[in-house]
Amino acid sequence: MSDGSVGLLRKCGISLSNGAGKLKTEADNFPLEIFFLRDDDIPDYVADGVADIGIVGENVLVENPRPVETIEKLGFGRCRLSIAVEKGAMYRDSNDLAGKRIATSYPNILSRFLDSKGVSANIHKITGSVEIAPSIGLADAVCDLVSSGSTLFTNGLREVERVMSSEAVLIASNDLCDAAGALLDKLVFRLRSVKAASQNKYILLNAPREKVGSIASILPGMRSPTVTPLAEKGWVSMQSVISEHEFWNVVDELRAAGAEGILVVAIDQMIV
Ligand code: AMP
Repeated sequence: MSDGSVGLLRKCGISLSNGAGKLKTEADNFPLEIFFLRDDDIPDYVADGVADIGIVGENVLVENPRPVETIEKLGFGRCRLSIAVEKGAMYRDSNDLAGKRIATSYPNILSRFLDSKGVSANIHKITGSVEIAPSIGLADAVCDLVSSGSTLFTNGLREVERVMSSEAVLIASNDLCDAAGALLDKLVFRLRSVKAASQNKYILLNAPREKVGSIASILPGMRSPTVTPLAEKGWVSMQSVISEHEFWNVVDELRAAGAEGILVVAIDQMIV
């Protein structure tokens, strides 16, 4: 999370003093002081006003809700909180968890999930190395964060229930002073531009002039596509922005409509 957070701030043009291993650093070109803290502690520091804003996984906030405001989902640190059982264990549905011992660092979320399914199980709260609990006889199942799934796999576990999805979020103290509030607005504006850029691509293509109308109707763009003439008579270059999600479908439609020489370029910043 800290690498992702620092990387995101850098993309927002905020350059941090190179303090590898330091727990506190300052931005060189933005009035921001950064504390590197344990994720579980971050909501408390923000709620207590020790820090004005924080970046933390949603999972931490949902487990221990604090009086802080969630400002923005940040699109990194994506993971899921899942229940896993030993690879060979029989599992049909959540009823198979009844009476079982489940090890987790997220007892509140797990307990709400089990209640919602009407299942009664024994929750064992442990703070780390949750995945080894079944192999050392401490539990029958685990409820832990999963990203790639390789930790579960290497510990002989199989994911059977997805309890919640999570990603990094920006949180803020409920009583920011005006100056800090103004800085937060500035930061959020930059974060949204970086996020919009990462969710969109810049597309350039060549097309016969008579196809401009049909191709323009496929390219949503920010307003409408730019059309410039090519040196070759009767041909134009068209440029626009397309969403990452619909990218391949749009490219297929463009080719069918007569587009050629399609180039797709990553966008660094997108001012929205
Ligand atoms: P993976 O092997 O990629 O599925 O990662 C699983 C391990 O990384 C588990 O020990 C998780 O507790 C931890 N983990 C994965 N994603 C996150 C996250 N977004 N925040 C905190 N811990 C995570």
